Amino acid sequence: MNYQKILEDIYKEIQPELKKGKVANYIPALAEVDPNQFAMTITLKSGEQFSVGKCKEEFSIQSISKVLAFSLAIHIYSKSLYKRVGVEPSGNAFNSLVQLEYEQGIPRNPFINAGAIVVMDALMSHYGGDFLTLEKILNFTRDISGDGAIKFDSSVAISEMKHASRNLSLAHLMKSFGNFDNDVRDVVKTYFKQCAIVMNTKTLSRAMLYLAFDGKDPITHREFLNGEQAKRLNALMLTCGHYDASGEFAYNVGLPGKSGVGGGIIAIVPDVMSISVWSPRLNEYGNSYAGTLALQMFTSKTGLSIF
Ligand code: GLU
Repeated sequence: MNYQKILEDIYKEIQPELKKGKVANYIPALAEVDPNQFAMTITLKSGEQFSVGKCKEEFSIQSISKVLAFSLAIHIYSKSLYKRVGVEPSGNAFNSLVQLEYEQGIPRNPFINAGAIVVMDALMSHYGGDFLTLEKILNFTRDISGDGAIKFDSSVAISEMKHASRNLSLAHLMKSFGNFDNDVRDVVKTYFKQCAIVMNTKTLSRAMLYLAFDGKDPITHREFLNGEQAKRLNALMLTCGHYDASGEFAYNVGLPGKSGVGGGIIAIVPDVMSISVWSPRLNEYGNSYAGTLALQMFTSKTGLSIF
């Protein structure tokens, strides 16, 4: 298949769509990004990459980082993690408080904010504090991407901490139900730093290749998850990766994926490739508008969906 040509066709077709949607402005630092940008990269088993658009421009990966943290947590805690966080789609907004109250402080899944915050709490208990945990997450990201320079943008993390009421509320509510071990502010702050990791579509697509190959990087042969864990993580991305638009994403794209409010999305074609796409304007559910559409075009043109 001529992947470069397919990506270039998508790039042309997507141009009229780049003005649709709105950038996330509840994190002020994210609203400063030029909203009309677009980039897409695919990485094959051999490491060969194909890209279009601003594939070297760095962006805030935001909730895509929840996949990284969950990979570490499932490796450490295995099934015992599911006592603290579920695996069901939420059908609610990513930062909803209502469901958490009904369900007694156990978040529906690790990809809504409450779930990701509880995963961070579990990682901090294991690694012994905020600094060490963040280092582990960054080092894991450097290992899977092969890019030792990966870092987080502290201005984005600080900007989010200034508008943290809702995420702090989620954490306090979980603490009130006994599903929280560490200091609420420390955990939420570290979670924001994790979300503020910056990558471009080339490094991001390369990083996620392990998820397409049963948890094992096909280039370095390093195993980051076992096959069983990778299967479950992909299933979670398929059912919960796009908040209350997860069903729609599965229906239109047909791949496991995870979005972030920075406008990035990753998608996995099992045994074939990992894809990343970035365009900052979001749809009403907080997922990249043009990014979702580009992935839809990609699976329609190539037939590379899991269905
Ligand atoms: N840091 C963001 C938050 O907690 C992540 C949300 C997202 O990317 O969907 O609100």
